Amino acid sequence: MACLFCKIIAGEIPASKVYEDERMIAFTDINPQAPMHVLVVPRKHLATLNDLTAAEDGLVGAMVRTAAAIAQNNGYDGPGYRTVFNCNAQAGQTVFHIHLHVLGGRSFGWPPG
Ligand code: AMP
Ligand code: ZN
Repeated sequence: MACLFCKIIAGEIPASKVYEDERMIAFTDINPQAPMHVLVVPRKHLATLNDLTAAEDGLVGAMVRTAAAIAQNNGYDGPGYRTVFNCNAQAGQTVFHIHLHVLGGRSFGWPPG
């Protein structure tokens, strides 16, 4: 198994988990870009958003709701927070197992860099 996030899910590499259920885990990013930077990661290995099918609609919806709950738990639901899926090279994807970034605790620019 070569995938970094599959190894974290399998417990082979440590991570600072903030949430887990039967479909996903969430852990803090090792190189945080904001005071809160959490990754919501499905247990199922899917390399990029391009690999999603209708079979994952429920999973992705649950991931987004988990991201919102994590932001709320950290007090960022009111001030605001940023959620990001990067897909492939031009978006800066570096880990090819889909993950939803959840960032909060500072202002974020738009358009994104
Ligand atoms: P992306 O560039 O969208 O593919 O995001 C990958 C993210 O994974 C980056 O923000 C990295 O800092 C993060 N990352 C890489 N290795 C680890 C790790 N071992 N534990 C937690 N986060 C990681
Ligand atoms: Zn994987």
